[in-house]
Amino acid sequence: MEPNIVLGLAKRRGFFYPSFEIYGGMAGMFDYGPLGSLMKQNIENVWRNYYIVKEGCAEICSPVISPEEVFKASGHLAEFTDFSVQCQNCKDAFRADHLVEEFVENADSLSREELAGVLKENNVKCPTCGGELSPPETVNLMFDTQVGPVGGRTGYLRPETAQAMLWRL
Ligand SMILES: [Zn+2]
Repeated sequence: MEPNIVLGLAKRRGFFYPSFEIYGGMAGMFDYGPLGSLMKQNIENVWRNYYIVKEGCAEICSPVISPEEVFKASGHLAEFTDFSVQCQNCKDAFRADHLVEEFVENADSLSREELAGVLKENNVKCPTCGGELSPPETVNLMFDTQVGPVGGRTGYLRPETAQAMLWRL
């Protein structure tokens, strides 16, 4: 089934739909409708049953924002990155490795220079408009913010869900 068919069905039936749609939406952000919220709770309960009941862990809750020191120590600030290219015409951005998957195996393991070479050799253009693409750039995927009423302390949203959810008993 095509992804757009699934997304259209989910939207019509109220499972989930793009957040802030009347203001143009934001890529990757969705709201759960009444049925979607119930489905999400069911999935979370399956997860809880597996990890808490069967695996003997205890669930803990922690803030979704952690201080910069945590992610320096974990290596996420240095390593949680993708190589991205941007269309010079329409300004859409793409993961460079996704654009070369049809030409090479293990595209996600290529260096920036290797990705640039594959993009050039295969004359890869913008999938949206056919425009010229920028060279691959390293993009850190962390979402940062300033913590406190006057800022001064950088924090980040958790980039992965595994860091503060489980506590082995
Ligand atoms: Zn474009």
